[in-house]
Amino acid sequence: MRVAWIGLGAMGWPMAKNLKKAGHEVLVYNRTEAKAKAHADAFGTRAVPLEAVADAEAIFSCLPTSDEVAGVVEALLPRLREGTLWIDCTSGEPEKSRAIAARLSEKGVVFLDAPVSGGVAGAEAGTLAIMVGGDEAAFERARPLLAALGRRVVRVGPVGAGHAVKAVNNTLLAVNLWAAAEGLVALAKAGVPAGVALEVINASSGRSFATMELIPDRVLDRSFPLTFKLGLLAKDVRIGGRVVEDQGVVSPVFHLARELYQAAARELGEDADHVEVVRMVERWAGEAIR
Ligand code: NDP
Repeated sequence: MRVAWIGLGAMGWPMAKNLKKAGHEVLVYNRTEAKAKAHADAFGTRAVPLEAVADAEAIFSCLPTSDEVAGVVEALLPRLREGTLWIDCTSGEPEKSRAIAARLSEKGVVFLDAPVSGGVAGAEAGTLAIMVGGDEAAFERARPLLAALGRRVVRVGPVGAGHAVKAVNNTLLAVNLWAAAEGLVALAKAGVPAGVALEVINASSGRSFATMELIPDRVLDRSFPLTFKLGLLAKDVRIGGRVVEDQGVVSPVFHLARELYQAAARELGEDADHVEVVRMVERWAGEAIR
């Protein structure tokens, strides 16, 4: 199939490569053109200007927020063809995705929100979890393409539902990470090294992705690699807050997470890695996790 990919960031770069590896013809567009050219050189994809993306049967977008997605949709709208499938892998906003889907439907283009989880490593390995919002027929059309990107591909509801699930998932990640940092810093102060505490926590009911992978792999060795910008996680937690608010759910934990991650992004900078919030907890406590 002729597929186009918009946005070769930390996630889009390996995901577009995996579509090519699965045997598709892949056109790549990136705002910074040099990255698209480098992708074409490295993987045999084809770097194209934005207009040429409209020639594809399926168009993927993987951009920071739904606002950038809406921007490229507007720019491409006059050229889009009836029957094209638009698959948005951005961690976006349910409300904005419904507006984008309505706009695309004016041209007979069908929209799916298909945000992903699994990080850069999962994108690289093609083992992402993909949560899809949209109608069933479009989902079935997209399924073979999504199979090249992820191991668990689930339709979770109509347009916007994928983005709602993703926002809740990432709020859970944010809460778990912050809470684990507070607990481990306290244990370190009390004389229990983090490695020892994690050995038992990770065999117990308090374990999470933060305690099993993020803290052991990135905090204990103080490497804090940049794979997922804090500004993007803060955005997800903001969306998560809106998802629970829209349903009238009493949600003090989601609200506190929103405040904390907004403050952290301001303090550490939007481009810091998300795991660096641990440094804030450590600074407040006057103790490092080790
Ligand atoms: P990056 O910041 O690494 O990449 C962003 C991409 O968007 C770049 O290709 C950038 O182009 C492009 N872009 C930014 N602004 C515009 C614009 N106005 N018009 C056109 N293109 C633009 O982000 P990630 O790849 O990390 O994240 C992408 C999405 O995936 C986000 O929604 C994020 O929340 C989500 N996500 C990220 C994960 C991660 O671990 N990193 C995991 C799961 C989901 P340029 O090269 O020119 O800057």
